[in-house]
Amino acid sequence: MKKDIIGYDIKMLEDTLEELGELRFRGRQVANWMYKHGVRDFMKMVNISSTLRAKLDENLIIGKLKLADKQSDETGTEKFLWNLNDGETIESVLIPDGERLTLCISSQVGCPLDCQFCATGQIGFKRNLNSGEIVNQYLQADTSEERRITNIVFMGMGEPLLNYENLLTALRIFISDEAIAFGAKKITVSTSGVAPKIKKLAEEGMKTGLAFSLNAADDKLRDKLMPINRRYNLEDNLKALKHYAKLSGRRVTFEYVLIKNVNDSLDDAGKLAKMVHGIPCKINLIRYNPVDGTGFEAPDDDAVLAFRDYLYPRAPAVTLRESKGSSIAAACGQLRGEYVKNELGSK
Ligand code: SAH
Ligand code: SF4
Repeated sequence: MKKDIIGYDIKMLEDTLEELGELRFRGRQVANWMYKHGVRDFMKMVNISSTLRAKLDENLIIGKLKLADKQSDETGTEKFLWNLNDGETIESVLIPDGERLTLCISSQVGCPLDCQFCATGQIGFKRNLNSGEIVNQYLQADTSEERRITNIVFMGMGEPLLNYENLLTALRIFISDEAIAFGAKKITVSTSGVAPKIKKLAEEGMKTGLAFSLNAADDKLRDKLMPINRRYNLEDNLKALKHYAKLSGRRVTFEYVLIKNVNDSLDDAGKLAKMVHGIPCKINLIRYNPVDGTGFEAPDDDAVLAFRDYLYPRAPAVTLRESKGSSIAAACGQLRGEYVKNELGSK
Protein backbone atom coordinates (compact mmCIF):
# COMPACT_ATOMS: atom_id res chain seq x y z
CA MET A 1 0.00 0.00 0.00
CA LYS A 2 1.20 3.50 -0.75
CA LYS A 3 2.19 5.61 2.21
CA ASP A 4 0.24 8.85 2.70
CA ILE A 5 2.76 11.59 3.51
CA ILE A 6 0.40 14.49 4.07
CA GLY A 7 1.06 15.78 7.57
CA TYR A 8 4.67 14.62 7.62
CA ASP A 9 7.02 17.26 8.98
CA ILE A 10 10.40 17.97 7.40
CA LYS A 11 12.23 15.32 9.37
CA MET A 12 9.62 12.66 8.61
CA LEU A 13 9.85 13.49 4.90
CA GLU A 14 13.64 13.35 4.96
CA ASP A 15 13.46 9.94 6.68
CA THR A 16 10.95 8.72 4.11
CA LEU A 17 13.14 9.75 1.18
CA GLU A 18 16.12 8.13 2.83
CA GLU A 19 14.15 4.91 3.24
CA LEU A 20 13.54 5.02 -0.51
CA GLY A 21 17.30 5.20 -1.06
CA GLU A 22 17.36 8.90 -1.88
CA LEU A 23 19.19 11.87 -0.44
CA ARG A 24 17.58 13.52 2.56
CA PHE A 25 17.28 16.95 0.97
CA ARG A 26 14.75 15.53 -1.49
CA GLY A 27 12.36 15.48 1.49
CA ARG A 28 12.62 19.25 1.72
CA GLN A 29 11.87 19.58 -1.99
CA VAL A 30 8.74 17.49 -1.60
CA ALA A 31 7.73 19.59 1.44
CA ASN A 32 8.13 22.72 -0.61
CA TRP A 33 5.85 21.41 -3.34
CA MET A 34 3.11 20.07 -1.15
CA TYR A 35 3.04 22.69 1.59
CA LYS A 36 4.04 25.89 -0.21
CA HIS A 37 2.49 25.20 -3.60
CA GLY A 38 -0.28 22.79 -2.68
CA VAL A 39 0.92 20.29 -5.31
CA ARG A 40 -0.20 16.71 -4.66
CA ASP A 41 0.83 15.13 -7.93
CA PHE A 42 4.47 13.99 -7.83
CA MET A 43 4.63 14.25 -11.62
CA LYS A 44 4.26 18.03 -11.30
CA MET A 45 7.29 18.41 -9.02
CA VAL A 46 9.44 19.56 -11.88
CA ASN A 47 12.74 20.16 -10.10
CA ILE A 48 12.85 16.44 -9.31
CA SER A 49 14.12 14.03 -11.96
CA SER A 50 11.49 12.07 -13.84
CA THR A 51 12.86 8.75 -12.55
CA LEU A 52 12.52 9.88 -8.95
CA ARG A 53 9.09 11.36 -9.62
CA ALA A 54 7.94 7.99 -10.90
CA LYS A 55 9.42 6.27 -7.85
CA LEU A 56 7.64 8.66 -5.50
CA ASP A 57 4.41 8.12 -7.36
CA GLU A 58 4.79 4.38 -7.05
CA ASN A 59 5.38 4.43 -3.31
CA LEU A 60 3.67 7.47 -1.87
CA ILE A 61 0.50 9.52 -2.04
CA ILE A 62 -0.47 12.94 -0.73
CA GLY A 63 -3.97 12.49 0.66
CA LYS A 64 -6.86 14.91 0.72
CA LEU A 65 -9.99 15.51 2.72
CA LYS A 66 -13.25 15.09 0.86
CA LEU A 67 -15.39 18.22 0.85
CA ALA A 68 -18.88 17.05 1.78
CA ASP A 69 -20.47 20.46 1.98
CA LYS A 70 -19.69 24.14 2.03
CA GLN A 71 -21.98 26.88 3.23
CA SER A 72 -21.58 30.61 3.47
CA ASP A 73 -23.52 33.47 4.97
CA GLU A 74 -23.94 37.17 4.24
CA THR A 75 -20.94 38.12 6.41
CA GLY A 76 -18.64 36.07 4.17
CA THR A 77 -18.20 33.36 6.80
CA GLU A 78 -17.73 29.96 5.18
CA LYS A 79 -18.19 26.63 6.82
CA PHE A 80 -16.57 23.50 5.41
CA LEU A 81 -17.74 20.01 6.22
CA TRP A 82 -15.04 17.42 5.50
CA ASN A 83 -15.34 13.68 5.13
CA LEU A 84 -12.39 11.70 6.47
CA ASN A 85 -11.17 8.37 5.07
CA ASP A 86 -12.97 6.35 7.73
CA GLY A 87 -16.28 8.12 7.12
CA GLU A 88 -16.09 10.51 10.08
CA THR A 89 -16.79 14.19 9.51
CA ILE A 90 -15.25 17.37 10.84
CA GLU A 91 -15.73 21.08 10.22
CA SER A 92 -13.63 24.18 9.68
CA VAL A 93 -14.84 27.76 9.49
CA LEU A 94 -13.36 30.67 7.56
CA ILE A 95 -14.20 34.02 9.11
CA PRO A 96 -13.47 37.41 7.55
CA ASP A 97 -13.02 40.23 10.04
CA GLY A 98 -11.81 43.48 8.51
CA GLU A 99 -8.32 42.92 7.18
CA ARG A 100 -8.18 39.51 8.75
CA LEU A 101 -9.27 36.16 7.42
CA THR A 102 -9.25 33.63 10.22
CA LEU A 103 -9.49 29.89 9.74
CA CYS A 104 -10.91 27.99 12.68
CA ILE A 105 -9.80 24.36 12.56
CA SER A 106 -10.66 21.12 14.33
CA SER A 107 -8.24 18.91 16.22
CA GLN A 108 -10.46 15.91 17.07
CA VAL A 109 -13.63 14.23 15.83
CA GLY A 110 -15.95 15.22 18.66
CA CYS A 111 -14.49 15.98 22.08
CA PRO A 112 -14.21 13.93 25.27
CA LEU A 113 -14.57 16.87 27.65
CA ASP A 114 -18.32 17.29 27.87
CA CYS A 115 -18.53 21.03 28.59
CA GLN A 116 -22.21 21.57 29.34
CA PHE A 117 -22.76 24.41 26.86
CA CYS A 118 -20.87 23.05 23.86
CA ALA A 119 -22.27 21.38 20.74
CA THR A 120 -19.08 19.44 20.07
CA GLY A 121 -19.13 18.15 23.64
CA GLN A 122 -22.56 16.63 22.99
CA ILE A 123 -21.16 14.38 20.27
CA GLY A 124 -18.71 12.72 22.62
CA PHE A 125 -15.28 11.62 21.49
CA LYS A 126 -14.71 9.67 18.29
CA ARG A 127 -10.99 9.97 17.61
CA ASN A 128 -7.97 12.24 17.29
CA LEU A 129 -7.19 13.83 13.94
CA ASN A 130 -3.80 13.01 12.51
CA SER A 131 -1.47 15.82 11.54
CA GLY A 132 -2.39 15.45 7.85
CA GLU A 133 -6.09 15.92 8.60
CA ILE A 134 -5.24 19.01 10.63
CA VAL A 135 -2.97 20.58 8.00
CA ASN A 136 -5.30 19.70 5.10
CA GLN A 137 -8.07 21.83 6.61
CA TYR A 138 -5.78 24.78 5.92
CA LEU A 139 -4.43 23.62 2.58
CA GLN A 140 -7.91 22.87 1.25
CA ALA A 141 -9.83 25.88 2.60
CA ASP A 142 -9.79 27.21 -0.91
CA THR A 143 -8.58 30.75 -0.79
CA SER A 144 -7.03 32.71 -3.57
CA GLU A 145 -4.10 35.10 -3.87
CA GLU A 146 -6.50 37.95 -3.10
CA ARG A 147 -8.01 36.21 -0.15
CA ARG A 148 -5.27 34.77 2.00
CA ILE A 149 -5.79 33.26 5.41
CA THR A 150 -4.09 35.58 7.93
CA ASN A 151 -4.81 33.73 11.18
CA ILE A 152 -5.37 30.17 12.30
CA VAL A 153 -7.21 29.31 15.50
CA PHE A 154 -7.63 25.83 17.00
CA MET A 155 -11.18 26.57 18.10
CA GLY A 156 -13.05 24.04 16.01
CA MET A 157 -14.05 20.60 17.20
CA GLY A 158 -12.00 18.97 19.92
CA GLU A 159 -9.45 19.75 22.60
CA PRO A 160 -6.11 20.28 20.86
CA LEU A 161 -4.00 19.63 23.96
CA LEU A 162 -5.51 16.15 24.26
CA ASN A 163 -4.12 15.40 20.79
CA TYR A 164 -0.75 16.74 21.72
CA GLU A 165 1.70 14.91 19.44
CA ASN A 166 -0.35 15.44 16.29
CA LEU A 167 -0.97 19.05 17.24
CA LEU A 168 2.76 19.57 17.61
CA THR A 169 3.57 17.98 14.26
CA ALA A 170 0.91 20.14 12.60
CA LEU A 171 2.26 23.27 14.30
CA ARG A 172 5.76 22.45 13.09
CA ILE A 173 4.43 22.17 9.53
CA PHE A 174 2.51 25.44 9.80
CA ILE A 175 5.46 27.32 11.23
CA SER A 176 8.49 25.83 9.48
CA ASP A 177 10.04 28.05 6.82
CA GLU A 178 10.53 24.97 4.68
CA ALA A 179 6.87 23.96 4.94
CA ILE A 180 3.93 26.39 5.15
CA ALA A 181 5.85 29.22 6.85
CA PHE A 182 2.78 30.63 8.61
CA GLY A 183 3.81 33.02 11.40
CA ALA A 184 3.67 31.41 14.85
CA LYS A 185 2.19 34.63 16.20
CA LYS A 186 -0.77 34.28 13.87
CA ILE A 187 -1.70 30.86 15.20
CA THR A 188 -3.72 30.45 18.40
CA VAL A 189 -4.20 27.18 20.24
CA SER A 190 -7.36 27.25 22.35
CA THR A 191 -7.69 25.01 25.36
CA SER A 192 -10.23 24.21 28.03
CA GLY A 193 -7.33 23.96 30.46
CA VAL A 194 -5.13 20.87 30.38
CA ALA A 195 -2.58 22.47 32.71
CA PRO A 196 0.37 20.04 32.30
CA LYS A 197 0.11 20.25 28.52
CA ILE A 198 0.00 24.06 28.64
CA LYS A 199 3.32 23.92 30.48
CA LYS A 200 4.70 21.43 28.03
CA LEU A 201 3.67 23.53 25.06
CA ALA A 202 5.35 26.56 26.66
CA GLU A 203 8.55 24.58 26.85
CA GLU A 204 8.48 23.61 23.16
CA GLY A 205 9.32 27.26 22.46
CA MET A 206 6.98 27.58 19.50
CA LYS A 207 5.62 30.95 20.54
CA THR A 208 2.15 30.38 19.14
CA GLY A 209 -0.69 32.25 20.80
CA LEU A 210 -2.58 30.52 23.57
CA ALA A 211 -6.24 31.03 24.48
CA PHE A 212 -7.72 29.62 27.67
CA SER A 213 -11.48 29.04 27.67
CA LEU A 214 -12.19 30.28 31.15
CA ASN A 215 -15.97 30.74 31.08
CA ALA A 216 -16.27 30.76 34.88
CA ALA A 217 -14.21 32.74 37.35
CA ASP A 218 -14.52 30.34 40.27
CA ASP A 219 -13.94 26.62 40.64
CA LYS A 220 -17.44 25.84 41.85
CA LEU A 221 -19.12 27.08 38.69
CA ARG A 222 -16.32 25.93 36.42
CA ASP A 223 -16.49 22.39 37.86
CA LYS A 224 -20.10 22.30 36.69
CA LEU A 225 -19.74 23.94 33.28
CA MET A 226 -16.44 22.35 32.29
CA PRO A 227 -15.87 19.04 34.07
CA ILE A 228 -12.16 19.06 33.19
CA ASN A 229 -11.84 21.68 35.93
CA ARG A 230 -12.26 18.91 38.51
CA ARG A 231 -9.03 17.44 37.20
CA TYR A 232 -7.07 20.68 36.61
CA ASN A 233 -8.55 23.55 38.56
CA LEU A 234 -8.17 27.28 38.08
CA GLU A 235 -5.07 27.50 40.24
CA ASP A 236 -3.31 24.78 38.21
CA ASN A 237 -4.25 26.50 34.97
CA LEU A 238 -3.38 30.03 36.05
CA LYS A 239 0.06 28.84 37.07
CA ALA A 240 0.52 27.12 33.72
CA LEU A 241 -0.69 30.21 31.86
CA LYS A 242 1.77 32.46 33.68
CA HIS A 243 4.51 30.02 32.72
CA TYR A 244 3.35 30.16 29.11
CA ALA A 245 3.29 33.98 29.08
CA LYS A 246 6.75 34.11 30.60
CA LEU A 247 8.38 31.62 28.26
CA SER A 248 6.67 32.81 25.09
CA GLY A 249 6.94 36.51 25.89
CA ARG A 250 3.31 36.81 24.79
CA ARG A 251 0.08 37.69 26.46
CA VAL A 252 -2.35 34.82 26.85
CA THR A 253 -6.02 35.23 25.94
CA PHE A 254 -8.87 34.46 28.30
CA GLU A 255 -12.00 33.48 26.40
CA TYR A 256 -15.18 34.07 28.37
CA VAL A 257 -18.47 32.95 26.86
CA LEU A 258 -21.28 34.91 28.49
CA ILE A 259 -24.28 32.71 29.32
CA LYS A 260 -27.52 34.21 30.58
CA ASN A 261 -27.91 34.10 34.38
CA VAL A 262 -25.05 31.63 34.66
CA ASN A 263 -21.85 33.67 34.50
CA ASP A 264 -22.91 37.12 33.33
CA SER A 265 -23.39 39.06 36.58
CA LEU A 266 -21.26 41.96 37.78
CA ASP A 267 -20.19 39.75 40.64
CA ASP A 268 -18.73 37.36 38.03
CA ALA A 269 -17.06 40.29 36.28
CA GLY A 270 -15.47 41.32 39.57
CA LYS A 271 -14.11 37.83 40.19
CA LEU A 272 -12.75 37.70 36.68
CA ALA A 273 -10.95 41.04 37.02
CA LYS A 274 -9.39 39.93 40.28
CA MET A 275 -8.36 36.59 38.88
CA VAL A 276 -6.42 37.89 35.91
CA HIS A 277 -4.66 40.54 37.95
CA GLY A 278 -0.91 40.35 37.34
CA ILE A 279 -1.20 37.99 34.35
CA PRO A 280 -0.13 39.43 30.98
CA CYS A 281 -3.35 38.83 29.08
CA LYS A 282 -6.22 39.91 26.90
CA ILE A 283 -9.85 39.04 27.61
CA ASN A 284 -12.28 38.07 24.87
CA LEU A 285 -15.94 38.21 25.77
CA ILE A 286 -18.20 36.12 23.56
CA ARG A 287 -21.97 35.97 23.52
CA TYR A 288 -23.20 32.44 23.99
CA ASN A 289 -24.63 30.91 20.85
CA PRO A 290 -27.47 28.72 22.13
CA VAL A 291 -27.18 24.99 21.52
CA ASP A 292 -30.31 22.81 21.63
CA GLY A 293 -30.59 20.50 24.56
CA THR A 294 -28.24 22.42 26.84
CA GLY A 295 -30.84 24.60 28.53
CA PHE A 296 -28.49 27.58 28.30
CA GLU A 297 -29.44 30.88 26.71
CA ALA A 298 -27.71 33.87 25.13
CA PRO A 299 -27.19 36.74 27.57
CA ASP A 300 -29.27 39.95 27.37
CA ASP A 301 -27.54 42.81 25.58
CA ASP A 302 -27.75 44.96 28.72
CA ALA A 303 -25.98 42.33 30.76
CA VAL A 304 -23.25 41.96 28.14
CA LEU A 305 -22.53 45.68 28.02
CA ALA A 306 -22.67 46.06 31.79
CA PHE A 307 -20.25 43.15 32.14
CA ARG A 308 -17.84 44.67 29.66
CA ASP A 309 -18.07 48.15 31.11
CA TYR A 310 -17.42 46.85 34.60
CA LEU A 311 -14.47 44.81 33.45
CA TYR A 312 -12.85 47.27 31.12
CA PRO A 313 -11.26 49.71 33.55
CA ARG A 314 -10.36 46.90 35.93
CA ALA A 315 -8.70 44.44 33.55
CA PRO A 316 -6.37 44.82 30.59
CA ALA A 317 -7.45 44.69 26.93
CA VAL A 318 -11.08 43.57 26.91
CA THR A 319 -12.79 42.88 23.59
CA LEU A 320 -16.38 41.96 22.90
CA ARG A 321 -17.22 40.31 19.63
CA GLU A 322 -20.21 42.22 18.35
CA SER A 323 -21.35 40.33 15.29
CA LYS A 324 -23.37 37.36 16.37
CA GLY A 325 -23.34 35.18 13.30
CA SER A 326 -19.71 35.37 12.48
CA SER A 327 -18.03 35.88 15.81
CA ILE A 328 -15.06 33.57 15.77
CA ALA A 329 -15.72 31.54 18.86
CA ALA A 330 -19.46 31.56 18.35
CA ALA A 331 -19.16 30.22 14.84
CA CYS A 332 -16.51 27.75 15.94
CA GLY A 333 -18.15 26.70 19.17
CA GLN A 334 -21.14 25.25 17.41
CA LEU A 335 -19.52 22.65 15.25
CA ARG A 336 -21.18 19.28 15.23
CA GLY A 337 -19.60 17.65 12.26
CA GLU A 338 -22.90 16.83 10.67
CA TYR A 339 -24.68 18.16 7.66
CA VAL A 340 -27.27 20.65 8.84
CA LYS A 341 -28.85 22.12 5.78
CA ASN A 342 -29.62 25.84 5.86
CA GLU A 343 -27.76 26.37 9.10
CA LEU A 344 -25.59 28.87 7.33
CA GLY A 345 -26.33 30.31 3.97
CA SER A 346 -29.98 30.59 3.18
CA LYS A 347 -31.15 32.46 6.26
N1 SAH B 1 -11.59 22.65 23.17
C1 SAH B 1 -11.00 23.93 23.00
C2 SAH B 1 -11.17 24.50 21.62
C3 SAH B 1 -12.51 24.32 20.96
S1 SAH B 1 -13.87 25.16 21.71
C4 SAH B 1 -11.52 24.89 24.05
O1 SAH B 1 -12.47 24.55 24.76
O2 SAH B 1 -10.93 25.97 24.17
C5 SAH B 1 -13.59 26.82 21.14
C6 SAH B 1 -14.27 27.91 21.95
O3 SAH B 1 -15.68 27.91 21.69
C7 SAH B 1 -14.12 27.80 23.46
O4 SAH B 1 -13.66 29.03 23.98
C8 SAH B 1 -15.53 27.53 23.95
O5 SAH B 1 -15.72 28.05 25.25
C9 SAH B 1 -16.36 28.22 22.90
N2 SAH B 1 -17.73 27.74 22.75
C10 SAH B 1 -18.17 26.47 22.81
N3 SAH B 1 -19.49 26.41 22.57
C11 SAH B 1 -19.91 27.69 22.37
C12 SAH B 1 -21.17 28.28 22.06
N4 SAH B 1 -22.25 27.55 21.90
N5 SAH B 1 -21.23 29.63 21.92
C13 SAH B 1 -20.11 30.38 22.03
N6 SAH B 1 -18.90 29.87 22.30
C14 SAH B 1 -18.79 28.53 22.48
FE1 SF4 C 1 -14.45 20.19 24.07
FE2 SF4 C 1 -13.80 22.82 23.98
FE3 SF4 C 1 -16.34 22.01 23.58
FE4 SF4 C 1 -15.27 21.83 26.00
S1 SF4 C 1 -15.64 23.74 24.86
S2 SF4 C 1 -16.50 20.22 24.98
S3 SF4 C 1 -13.17 21.30 25.54
S4 SF4 C 1 -14.59 21.54 22.30
